[in-house]
Amino acid sequence: MRITFLSTSVGPLGSGIGGGVELTLRTLAAGLAARGHVITVLAPRGSTLPNLPPTVELVQVDGALHVPSQTLDRGTKLQVPHDSVLVTMWKMARDQAERGECDVVLNFAYDVVPFVDAPLAVPTAHLVSMGSLSDEMDAAVTSALARKPNCVAMHTRAQAATFGASVLQHANIVLSGIDLANYPFVATPGSDLAFVSRISREKGIDDLFHVASLSARRVQVFGIMEDEVAWRDAQARYPEAEVHHVGFLSTRELAAQLGQCAALVMVHRWVEAFGNVAIEAMACGVPVVTYDRGGPAEIVSDGVTGYVVKADDPGAVAAALTKIDAIDRATCRAAVVAQYSASAFAERVERWLSAQATVG
Ligand code: UDP
Repeated sequence: MRITFLSTSVGPLGSGIGGGVELTLRTLAAGLAARGHVITVLAPRGSTLPNLPPTVELVQVDGALHVPSQTLDRGTKLQVPHDSVLVTMWKMARDQAERGECDVVLNFAYDVVPFVDAPLAVPTAHLVSMGSLSDEMDAAVTSALARKPNCVAMHTRAQAATFGASVLQHANIVLSGIDLANYPFVATPGSDLAFVSRISREKGIDDLFHVASLSARRVQVFGIMEDEVAWRDAQARYPEAEVHHVGFLSTRELAAQLGQCAALVMVHRWVEAFGNVAIEAMACGVPVVTYDRGGPAEIVSDGVTGYVVKADDPGAVAAALTKIDAIDRATCRAAVVAQYSASAFAERVERWLSAQATVG
């Protein structure tokens, strides 16, 4: 198939602003190219897609970035900026489809534009990267599925359920995946904990500081500083917590440092759609202690690859961390190899896209 990817419109690929969708897009571009497909990626100017084969073309698109939906109230109408990069990418996809240059468009943007605009000359498939955050987006997803069952994929059942029962029933669940070669296995870690995330309230920065203070362990934080006020508030509440902000690292650097950690802590407040960081950690042999909420609770097998504890309970996370040595790190990696390799992910998405291309 010739597949045109419509990238996230909130930031350039490689910036970290888009969160997990950036890694998801890169993994799928490589995985689908390895299966013989030809990929065109339409993405905001400044995007980078390192180490991909020549059958993946990156097209840099000018235009204004969109505001991330997680920063808006759910009743707020999604803003389409003047000179929107997404509208331009969508027009380019339309032109490609009309010229017969692609077979299917795969949309990664969490935005209503590709859902509500007039259909293209080829099928559009939507891989939704976050749970329900906006009434307008919920309506767009629900009606797209009503018009064409199977045109939407989600990463987990927990994510799909946030959009309501009919979306849960009709959406295709594709999980996620990573290129295991980028994540070396580390058998013997140090004692630090890891937190890999944009620093924001929905990712639970406050509870992270609480866990650090209860467990008296140092936490290394990898990710962009999205909300400095939230960070300072948490610091002020838990001055004894030893939490160190490393910054946003490339995948290779991240894997090298993450692998040295004793556990990954996930204390998110929102329903995490998947949680790529959970499988990235496990691939390095790092067990995950997560709240029982959203995708990570479906990924982590309690007592086997980490611990799934009551949500919003930092004490339960701290208690689980005292038992972390009971988790076999090799079992964590094996779980990713079995279900979340880039090729297994690409195969699931290929099956879903092939069904689109034949339905029309
Ligand atoms: N990430 C990274 N470098 C860092 C910290 C994070 O590349 O220093 C990436 C990480 O690999 C993951 C993404 O940021 O792919 C976060 O994705 P996730 O799905 O966990 O959460 P999201 O931000 O999309 O809600």
